[in-house]
Amino acid sequence: MQVPLLDLKAQYSKIREEMLAAVTEVLDSQICIGGPKLAELEEKIAKISDCKYGIGASSGTDAILSSLMSLGIGAGDEVITTPFTFFATTGCIHRAGAKAVFVDIDPKTYNIDPSKIEAAITEKTKAILPVHLFGQMADMDPIMEIAKKHGLYVIEDAAQSITSVYKGKKAGSFGATGCFSFYPSKNLGGIGDGGMIVTNDEEVKEKLLIMRNHGGGHKYFNEVVGGNFRLDALQAAGLLVKLKHLDEWSQGRRDNASYYNKKFKGTAVGIPYIDPNCISIYNQYVVRVPKRDEALAYLREKNIGCVVYYPLCMHMQKCFKYLGYKEGDMPESEKASKEVMALPIYPELTNEMKDFVAESLLEFLG
Ligand SMILES: *Cc1c(COP(=O)(O)O)cnc(C)c1O
Repeated sequence: MQVPLLDLKAQYSKIREEMLAAVTEVLDSQICIGGPKLAELEEKIAKISDCKYGIGASSGTDAILSSLMSLGIGAGDEVITTPFTFFATTGCIHRAGAKAVFVDIDPKTYNIDPSKIEAAITEKTKAILPVHLFGQMADMDPIMEIAKKHGLYVIEDAAQSITSVYKGKKAGSFGATGCFSFYPSKNLGGIGDGGMIVTNDEEVKEKLLIMRNHGGGHKYFNEVVGGNFRLDALQAAGLLVKLKHLDEWSQGRRDNASYYNKKFKGTAVGIPYIDPNCISIYNQYVVRVPKRDEALAYLREKNIGCVVYYPLCMHMQKCFKYLGYKEGDMPESEKASKEVMALPIYPELTNEMKDFVAESLLEFLG
Protein backbone atom coordinates (compact mmCIF):
# COMPACT_ATOMS: atom_id res chain seq x y z
CA MET A 1 0.00 0.00 0.00
CA GLN A 2 1.07 3.55 -0.72
CA VAL A 3 0.04 6.41 1.56
CA PRO A 4 1.30 9.81 0.45
CA LEU A 5 1.62 12.65 2.94
CA LEU A 6 -0.99 14.52 0.92
CA ASP A 7 -3.08 13.53 -2.11
CA LEU A 8 -4.41 16.61 -3.87
CA LYS A 9 -5.68 14.55 -6.79
CA ALA A 10 -8.08 12.77 -4.44
CA GLN A 11 -9.49 16.16 -3.45
CA TYR A 12 -9.58 17.50 -6.99
CA SER A 13 -11.40 14.49 -8.43
CA LYS A 14 -14.43 15.38 -6.30
CA ILE A 15 -14.61 19.04 -7.35
CA ARG A 16 -13.21 18.85 -10.89
CA GLU A 17 -16.31 20.08 -12.74
CA GLU A 18 -16.86 22.99 -10.37
CA MET A 19 -13.21 23.99 -10.56
CA LEU A 20 -13.15 23.89 -14.34
CA ALA A 21 -16.31 26.00 -14.52
CA ALA A 22 -14.89 28.56 -12.08
CA VAL A 23 -11.61 28.84 -13.93
CA THR A 24 -13.39 29.09 -17.29
CA GLU A 25 -15.56 31.90 -15.97
CA VAL A 26 -12.48 33.95 -15.09
CA LEU A 27 -10.83 33.16 -18.43
CA ASP A 28 -13.95 34.18 -20.32
CA SER A 29 -14.20 37.43 -18.34
CA GLN A 30 -10.50 38.23 -18.81
CA ILE A 31 -10.60 40.04 -15.48
CA CYS A 32 -7.31 38.58 -14.32
CA ILE A 33 -6.30 40.90 -11.48
CA GLY A 34 -8.80 42.03 -8.85
CA GLY A 35 -12.44 41.88 -9.89
CA PRO A 36 -15.56 40.30 -8.41
CA LYS A 37 -14.08 36.89 -7.52
CA LEU A 38 -11.36 38.47 -5.42
CA ALA A 39 -13.84 40.79 -3.71
CA GLU A 40 -16.14 37.86 -2.92
CA LEU A 41 -13.29 35.78 -1.53
CA GLU A 42 -12.01 38.65 0.61
CA GLU A 43 -15.46 39.17 2.07
CA LYS A 44 -15.99 35.48 2.77
CA ILE A 45 -12.58 34.85 4.33
CA ALA A 46 -13.03 37.90 6.56
CA LYS A 47 -16.44 36.62 7.63
CA ILE A 48 -15.32 33.09 8.54
CA SER A 49 -12.43 34.65 10.48
CA ASP A 50 -14.62 36.97 12.61
CA CYS A 51 -12.98 39.95 10.90
CA LYS A 52 -14.27 43.01 9.08
CA TYR A 53 -11.78 43.05 6.22
CA GLY A 54 -9.95 40.59 4.02
CA ILE A 55 -7.10 41.66 1.78
CA GLY A 56 -5.94 39.16 -0.83
CA ALA A 57 -2.19 38.60 -0.99
CA SER A 58 0.17 36.88 -3.39
CA SER A 59 1.21 34.35 -0.73
CA GLY A 60 1.18 33.72 2.99
CA THR A 61 4.72 35.04 3.04
CA ASP A 62 3.66 38.31 1.42
CA ALA A 63 0.71 38.54 3.80
CA ILE A 64 3.19 38.57 6.70
CA LEU A 65 5.68 40.85 4.97
CA SER A 66 3.08 43.42 3.93
CA SER A 67 1.56 43.33 7.43
CA LEU A 68 4.92 44.25 8.94
CA MET A 69 5.48 46.95 6.30
CA SER A 70 1.98 48.40 6.69
CA LEU A 71 2.37 48.62 10.46
CA GLY A 72 5.60 50.52 9.94
CA ILE A 73 7.85 47.85 11.40
CA GLY A 74 11.39 47.96 10.02
CA ALA A 75 14.96 49.03 10.72
CA GLY A 76 15.75 49.36 14.41
CA ASP A 77 12.68 47.42 15.51
CA GLU A 78 12.48 44.03 17.19
CA VAL A 79 9.79 41.43 16.61
CA ILE A 80 9.27 38.58 19.05
CA THR A 81 8.49 35.22 17.48
CA THR A 82 8.97 31.47 17.72
CA PRO A 83 12.03 29.66 16.37
CA PHE A 84 9.97 26.53 15.69
CA THR A 85 8.16 27.47 12.48
CA PHE A 86 8.36 27.58 8.72
CA PHE A 87 11.12 29.80 7.36
CA ALA A 88 8.79 32.52 6.07
CA THR A 89 7.87 33.78 9.56
CA THR A 90 11.43 34.78 10.38
CA GLY A 91 12.33 35.54 6.77
CA CYS A 92 9.68 38.28 6.64
CA ILE A 93 10.92 39.94 9.83
CA HIS A 94 14.40 40.04 8.32
CA ARG A 95 13.15 41.30 4.95
CA ALA A 96 11.15 44.08 6.62
CA GLY A 97 14.48 45.22 8.05
CA ALA A 98 13.61 44.34 11.64
CA LYS A 99 15.35 41.98 14.05
CA ALA A 100 13.80 38.67 15.06
CA VAL A 101 13.90 37.91 18.78
CA PHE A 102 13.10 34.30 19.60
CA VAL A 103 11.07 32.94 22.47
CA ASP A 104 10.99 29.19 23.08
CA ILE A 105 7.88 27.04 22.62
CA ASP A 106 5.52 25.24 24.93
CA PRO A 107 6.60 21.60 24.42
CA LYS A 108 3.00 20.37 24.49
CA THR A 109 1.48 22.59 21.81
CA TYR A 110 4.70 23.56 19.92
CA ASN A 111 3.46 27.16 19.97
CA ILE A 112 5.26 30.15 21.50
CA ASP A 113 5.32 30.00 25.31
CA PRO A 114 3.64 33.22 26.55
CA SER A 115 5.28 32.92 29.98
CA LYS A 116 8.66 33.58 28.36
CA ILE A 117 7.68 36.57 26.22
CA GLU A 118 8.02 39.43 28.71
CA ALA A 119 11.67 38.64 29.42
CA ALA A 120 12.40 39.18 25.72
CA ILE A 121 10.81 42.63 25.48
CA THR A 122 13.14 45.62 25.10
CA GLU A 123 12.52 49.28 24.27
CA LYS A 124 12.97 48.30 20.61
CA THR A 125 10.22 45.69 20.58
CA LYS A 126 7.38 46.64 18.26
CA ALA A 127 5.42 43.45 17.74
CA ILE A 128 4.78 39.86 18.74
CA LEU A 129 4.40 37.44 15.84
CA PRO A 130 2.94 34.19 17.16
CA VAL A 131 2.50 31.26 14.78
CA HIS A 132 -0.55 29.01 15.07
CA LEU A 133 1.38 25.86 14.28
CA PHE A 134 0.01 22.67 12.74
CA GLY A 135 -3.59 23.96 12.88
CA GLN A 136 -3.79 24.92 16.55
CA MET A 137 -3.79 28.49 17.80
CA ALA A 138 -1.21 29.87 20.19
CA ASP A 139 -2.31 30.79 23.73
CA MET A 140 -3.70 34.17 22.68
CA ASP A 141 -5.11 35.60 25.95
CA PRO A 142 -1.75 36.05 27.70
CA ILE A 143 -0.14 37.14 24.41
CA MET A 144 -2.75 39.88 23.88
CA GLU A 145 -2.44 40.94 27.51
CA ILE A 146 1.34 41.33 27.25
CA ALA A 147 0.98 43.18 23.93
CA LYS A 148 -1.54 45.58 25.44
CA LYS A 149 0.56 46.20 28.52
CA HIS A 150 3.66 47.05 26.45
CA GLY A 151 1.92 48.74 23.51
CA LEU A 152 2.94 46.12 20.93
CA TYR A 153 1.29 44.99 17.73
CA VAL A 154 0.33 41.36 17.35
CA ILE A 155 0.60 39.82 13.90
CA GLU A 156 -0.80 36.30 13.70
CA ASP A 157 0.92 33.87 11.38
CA ALA A 158 -2.18 31.78 10.78
CA ALA A 159 -0.88 30.22 7.57
CA GLN A 160 -1.63 26.74 8.92
CA SER A 161 -4.73 27.65 10.90
CA ILE A 162 -7.53 29.22 8.89
CA THR A 163 -10.84 28.86 10.85
CA SER A 164 -9.00 27.44 13.86
CA VAL A 165 -10.61 28.47 17.15
CA TYR A 166 -9.29 29.73 20.52
CA LYS A 167 -11.90 30.33 23.24
CA GLY A 168 -14.63 30.65 20.64
CA LYS A 169 -12.74 33.17 18.49
CA LYS A 170 -11.19 32.57 15.11
CA ALA A 171 -7.56 32.67 14.06
CA GLY A 172 -6.67 36.06 12.63
CA SER A 173 -9.21 38.00 14.69
CA PHE A 174 -6.97 38.72 17.69
CA GLY A 175 -4.06 40.68 16.25
CA ALA A 176 -3.66 43.85 14.23
CA THR A 177 -3.56 41.45 11.30
CA GLY A 178 -3.94 37.72 10.72
CA CYS A 179 -2.09 36.11 7.84
CA PHE A 180 -3.31 33.10 5.87
CA SER A 181 -1.61 31.05 3.18
CA PHE A 182 -3.34 29.29 0.31
CA TYR A 183 -0.28 27.23 -0.56
CA PRO A 184 -1.71 23.98 -1.95
CA SER A 185 -0.79 21.93 1.14
CA LYS A 186 -2.73 24.18 3.51
CA ASN A 187 -6.30 23.27 4.55
CA LEU A 188 -7.57 25.80 2.02
CA GLY A 189 -5.14 25.49 -0.87
CA GLY A 190 -5.14 27.34 -4.17
CA ILE A 191 -4.07 26.21 -7.62
CA GLY A 192 -0.78 27.96 -7.04
CA ASP A 193 0.46 30.54 -4.57
CA GLY A 194 -1.88 32.79 -2.66
CA GLY A 195 -2.63 34.31 0.72
CA MET A 196 -4.89 36.68 2.64
CA ILE A 197 -4.62 39.19 5.43
CA VAL A 198 -7.56 39.78 7.74
CA THR A 199 -8.02 42.72 10.06
CA ASN A 200 -10.68 44.61 12.02
CA ASP A 201 -8.84 47.92 11.69
CA GLU A 202 -9.98 50.08 8.79
CA GLU A 203 -6.81 52.16 8.77
CA VAL A 204 -4.65 49.03 8.59
CA LYS A 205 -6.82 47.71 5.76
CA GLU A 206 -6.28 50.93 3.77
CA LYS A 207 -2.52 50.71 4.31
CA LEU A 208 -2.47 47.07 3.20
CA LEU A 209 -4.40 47.90 0.03
CA ILE A 210 -1.86 50.57 -0.83
CA MET A 211 1.08 48.36 0.13
CA ARG A 212 -0.01 45.51 -2.16
CA ASN A 213 -0.04 47.93 -5.11
CA HIS A 214 3.57 49.07 -4.82
CA GLY A 215 2.64 51.56 -2.12
CA GLY A 216 0.83 53.82 -4.54
CA GLY A 217 -2.45 55.43 -3.49
CA HIS A 218 -3.32 57.15 -6.73
CA LYS A 219 -1.78 55.60 -9.79
CA TYR A 220 1.87 56.52 -10.28
CA PHE A 221 2.06 58.82 -7.25
CA ASN A 222 3.76 57.08 -4.34
CA GLU A 223 4.18 58.13 -0.76
CA VAL A 224 5.51 54.76 0.40
CA VAL A 225 7.35 51.84 -1.20
CA GLY A 226 5.27 48.68 -1.30
CA GLY A 227 5.33 45.69 -3.58
CA ASN A 228 3.21 43.58 -5.87
CA PHE A 229 1.43 41.59 -3.19
CA ARG A 230 -1.78 40.90 -5.10
CA LEU A 231 -3.87 37.74 -5.37
CA ASP A 232 -4.93 36.69 -8.89
CA ALA A 233 -8.57 36.39 -9.91
CA LEU A 234 -7.94 32.81 -11.04
CA GLN A 235 -6.76 31.84 -7.57
CA ALA A 236 -9.72 33.61 -5.99
CA ALA A 237 -12.15 31.70 -8.23
CA GLY A 238 -10.59 28.33 -7.40
CA LEU A 239 -10.48 29.16 -3.71
CA LEU A 240 -14.17 30.12 -3.69
CA VAL A 241 -15.02 26.62 -4.91
CA LYS A 242 -12.82 24.99 -2.29
CA LEU A 243 -14.01 27.28 0.49
CA LYS A 244 -17.43 25.59 0.40
CA HIS A 245 -15.73 22.35 1.46
CA LEU A 246 -13.29 23.76 4.01
CA ASP A 247 -15.26 22.90 7.15
CA GLU A 248 -16.00 19.39 5.96
CA TRP A 249 -12.33 18.84 5.05
CA SER A 250 -11.11 20.16 8.39
CA GLN A 251 -13.61 17.91 10.16
CA GLY A 252 -12.27 15.00 8.12
CA ARG A 253 -8.80 15.79 9.40
CA ARG A 254 -10.08 15.95 12.98
CA ASP A 255 -11.80 12.59 12.54
CA ASN A 256 -8.58 11.10 11.20
CA ALA A 257 -6.69 12.54 14.15
CA SER A 258 -9.08 10.86 16.62
CA TYR A 259 -8.70 7.63 14.69
CA TYR A 260 -4.92 7.76 15.03
CA ASN A 261 -5.15 8.89 18.66
CA LYS A 262 -7.10 5.75 19.55
CA LYS A 263 -4.54 3.59 17.78
CA PHE A 264 -1.65 5.25 19.60
CA LYS A 265 -3.25 5.28 23.04
CA GLY A 266 -0.94 3.75 25.65
CA THR A 267 1.98 3.44 23.22
CA ALA A 268 5.31 5.27 22.93
CA VAL A 269 3.84 7.59 20.29
CA GLY A 270 3.37 11.11 21.65
CA ILE A 271 0.09 12.23 20.06
CA PRO A 272 -0.73 15.91 19.41
CA TYR A 273 -1.90 17.80 22.48
CA ILE A 274 -4.89 20.00 21.80
CA ASP A 275 -5.52 22.66 24.43
CA PRO A 276 -9.11 22.40 25.75
CA ASN A 277 -9.55 26.07 24.73
CA CYS A 278 -8.76 25.24 21.11
CA ILE A 279 -10.29 23.57 18.10
CA SER A 280 -7.49 22.49 15.76
CA ILE A 281 -7.88 22.19 12.01
CA TYR A 282 -5.00 19.68 11.94
CA ASN A 283 -3.09 21.09 9.02
CA GLN A 284 -0.56 18.56 10.25
CA TYR A 285 -0.77 15.57 12.59
CA VAL A 286 2.56 15.69 14.37
CA VAL A 287 3.75 12.98 16.74
CA ARG A 288 6.80 12.65 18.95
CA VAL A 289 8.57 9.32 18.65
CA PRO A 290 11.73 7.73 20.00
CA LYS A 291 14.45 7.22 17.38
CA ARG A 292 12.64 9.63 15.08
CA ASP A 293 15.02 9.47 12.12
CA GLU A 294 14.90 5.67 12.08
CA ALA A 295 11.12 5.71 12.38
CA LEU A 296 10.93 8.11 9.47
CA ALA A 297 13.15 5.89 7.31
CA TYR A 298 11.12 2.81 8.30
CA LEU A 299 7.82 4.40 7.24
CA ARG A 300 9.26 5.78 4.04
CA GLU A 301 10.55 2.33 3.16
CA LYS A 302 6.90 1.25 3.37
CA ASN A 303 5.83 4.03 1.00
CA ILE A 304 4.25 6.10 3.75
CA GLY A 305 4.70 9.82 3.25
CA CYS A 306 6.00 11.46 6.38
CA VAL A 307 8.05 14.55 6.95
CA VAL A 308 9.75 16.53 9.71
CA TYR A 309 8.30 19.97 10.40
CA TYR A 310 10.82 21.47 11.24
CA PRO A 311 14.23 19.82 11.32
CA LEU A 312 16.26 23.00 11.97
CA CYS A 313 15.02 25.79 14.22
CA MET A 314 15.18 29.33 12.95
CA HIS A 315 17.80 30.46 15.50
CA MET A 316 20.09 27.72 14.15
CA GLN A 317 19.78 28.68 10.47
CA LYS A 318 22.99 29.81 8.85
CA CYS A 319 21.36 32.94 7.43
CA PHE A 320 20.26 34.04 10.90
CA LYS A 321 23.64 33.45 12.52
CA TYR A 322 24.05 37.22 12.77
CA LEU A 323 21.27 37.26 15.37
CA GLY A 324 23.76 35.69 17.77
CA TYR A 325 21.93 32.62 19.00
CA LYS A 326 23.63 29.30 19.70
CA GLU A 327 22.60 25.69 20.24
CA GLY A 328 20.93 25.27 23.61
CA ASP A 329 19.33 28.73 23.62
CA MET A 330 15.87 27.36 22.71
CA PRO A 331 15.88 23.92 24.34
CA GLU A 332 12.24 22.96 23.79
CA SER A 333 12.28 23.98 20.14
CA GLU A 334 15.54 22.15 19.55
CA LYS A 335 14.20 19.04 21.28
CA ALA A 336 11.03 19.14 19.20
CA SER A 337 13.03 19.46 15.98
CA LYS A 338 14.76 16.19 16.85
CA GLU A 339 11.69 14.26 17.99
CA VAL A 340 8.70 15.14 15.83
CA MET A 341 7.33 13.88 12.56
CA ALA A 342 4.13 14.49 10.61
CA LEU A 343 1.95 11.60 9.45
CA PRO A 344 -0.59 11.68 6.59
CA ILE A 345 -3.79 13.33 7.85
CA TYR A 346 -5.58 14.57 4.71
CA PRO A 347 -9.36 13.97 4.78
CA GLU A 348 -9.54 11.48 1.91
CA LEU A 349 -7.49 8.86 3.79
CA THR A 350 -9.31 5.53 4.09
CA ASN A 351 -9.41 3.50 7.29
CA GLU A 352 -7.15 0.92 5.63
CA MET A 353 -4.59 3.64 4.96
CA LYS A 354 -4.73 4.97 8.50
CA ASP A 355 -4.46 1.42 9.88
CA PHE A 356 -1.41 0.83 7.71
CA VAL A 357 0.27 4.06 8.85
CA ALA A 358 -0.44 3.51 12.54
CA GLU A 359 0.40 -0.18 12.54
CA SER A 360 3.63 0.41 10.62
CA LEU A 361 4.77 2.97 13.17
CA LEU A 362 3.81 0.71 16.09
CA GLU A 363 5.59 -2.19 14.38
CA PHE A 364 8.76 -0.08 14.23
CA LEU A 365 8.47 0.79 17.89
CA GLY A 366 8.00 -2.89 18.73
C1 LIG B 1 2.97 28.10 4.59
C2 LIG B 1 3.45 28.99 5.67
C3 LIG B 1 3.86 30.31 5.44
C4 LIG B 1 4.04 30.88 4.07
O1 LIG B 1 2.98 30.76 3.21
P1 LIG B 1 3.24 30.76 1.63
O2 LIG B 1 1.87 30.90 1.08
O3 LIG B 1 3.89 29.46 1.28
O4 LIG B 1 4.10 31.91 1.31
C5 LIG B 1 4.19 31.10 6.52
N1 LIG B 1 4.16 30.62 7.77
C6 LIG B 1 3.81 29.36 8.04
C7 LIG B 1 3.78 28.90 9.45
C8 LIG B 1 3.46 28.49 7.00
O5 LIG B 1 3.13 27.23 7.28
